[in-house]
Amino acid sequence: MVEPTERPASREPIDFTVESLGPRTVDSPLAPRLLARRTTHHYIEETDRVLFDDTLSKVSRRDGDLEDLPSLEPTGPRKKIFFDPSKTRVGIVTCGGLCPGINNVIRGLVSELTNHYGVRRIYGFKNGYQGFIPSYGHDVVDLTPESVSDIDGEGGTILGTSRGQQDAVEVVDCLERMGISILFVIGGDGTMRGAQKISAEIKARDLKIAVVGIPKTIDNDIPFIDQSFGFQSAFSEATRSIRSAKVEARTAPNGVSIVKLMGRHSGFIACYAALAQNDADFVLIPEVPFTLAGPGGFLEKLREKVASQGHALVVAAEGAGQELFDDDGLKDASGNKKLQDVGRLLRQAITDDFAAHDLELNMRYIDPSYVIRSVPANPYDSVYCIRLAHAAVHAAMAGRTNMVVGRWRRRFVHIPIALAVSARNQVDPHGDLWWSVLEATGQPWSFGDFAPEHVSAFGGQ
Ligand code: ATP
Ligand code: MG
Repeated sequence: MVEPTERPASREPIDFTVESLGPRTVDSPLAPRLLARRTTHHYIEETDRVLFDDTLSKVSRRDGDLEDLPSLEPTGPRKKIFFDPSKTRVGIVTCGGLCPGINNVIRGLVSELTNHYGVRRIYGFKNGYQGFIPSYGHDVVDLTPESVSDIDGEGGTILGTSRGQQDAVEVVDCLERMGISILFVIGGDGTMRGAQKISAEIKARDLKIAVVGIPKTIDNDIPFIDQSFGFQSAFSEATRSIRSAKVEARTAPNGVSIVKLMGRHSGFIACYAALAQNDADFVLIPEVPFTLAGPGGFLEKLREKVASQGHALVVAAEGAGQELFDDDGLKDASGNKKLQDVGRLLRQAITDDFAAHDLELNMRYIDPSYVIRSVPANPYDSVYCIRLAHAAVHAAMAGRTNMVVGRWRRRFVHIPIALAVSARNQVDPHGDLWWSVLEATGQPWSFGDFAPEHVSAFGGQ
């Protein structure tokens, strides 16, 4: 379990208000079933809130009303809902890179909408936001509980995905044309920025269409969420590469293995995988800059390790060491900065360094990223995905919009998209997790002159 992120340093009050399309006047079809079983406590009352910070001293030292404490709206079924399920058409789209569990979320959405709310029309849009744009000519697929009944054993997404920005005006034109009332968006930060623009366009046209996101980030970098779906499956799979890399390293004289893992800006996968398979001697993450050459630099420490142990294993997140490169300004199709290849840099630098010191070197380099991204969700993530899907359906049926679902302090909650994209969840170099990594690896706190800055959990892009 990832530790809940810390409260942001800023004193600015955080606005947790979730947008609503209007009053809820339709009786939920779930009502009779739950009432008959006397399980009314499963309903969420409008006044229910989940405290953002449940530290006792923060609560008890307050002067004002308890209701004024920062708090989030809990997920779950409401007695009254906004949409009439029999007249509701739903769209589902998946965008961005792959992540374990996307198909589980799709299946969870379809089965909850159909079996519990009685929604009869669910459309899957193909290849991300391209699926809404007529000029791409992608088919729209009907999704039913039968058609998605065995997709969760597969990695990837049955709907396909894409990068590259699409025009929110054209997306909303398509939603209007098809009479869609609810759009579920499964994707990362870029996807959620897109969903925000779609919500704004819907609002500008005064339409009653709910946009609800299920955030997908294998890097676990979305703020206000304890842990993102697929993260646990991803770091579990990564441990297999670490294990293999260790075997390779110790079976050759002066063996050095490098495992490059995902983590563009946040090194959670590298940290968790290295702790789960406690074989790494060095973990390099984007949050902790390092120097390569010179006294106390990474290369010197690596040489010392190989001299004392006979081999060494390095786990590097893909975004580590970006400070060692010049910014070439390259961007991908979605406008994300293209990362420089830290794996290549390390390989070259280590090879040159060992040669310069006249040392034998047996280098192995493993990049399992595409294997990890495409594995099916493990049982833990499968449970998490289906519960997120149920939460998203309840929120959308109740008319909530421009929001994502997430879990905060083990409670499922609604989070405005604006907050979910406002910052990035990162490993704090002064926090417990990084300290555990340092203890497990025995690596120095920093390489060379770098003293890592404190990273606020919501410390910006
Ligand atoms: P990940 O980075 O985890 O793979 P992502 O959702 O961030 O997922 P992107 O490729 O950045 O992946 O974005 C996915 C889609 O979201 C793109 O196809 C694009 O249409 C849309 N998108 C990205 N950024 C924006 C933005 N700033 N505004 C509007 N739409 C965007
Ligand atoms: Mg992204």
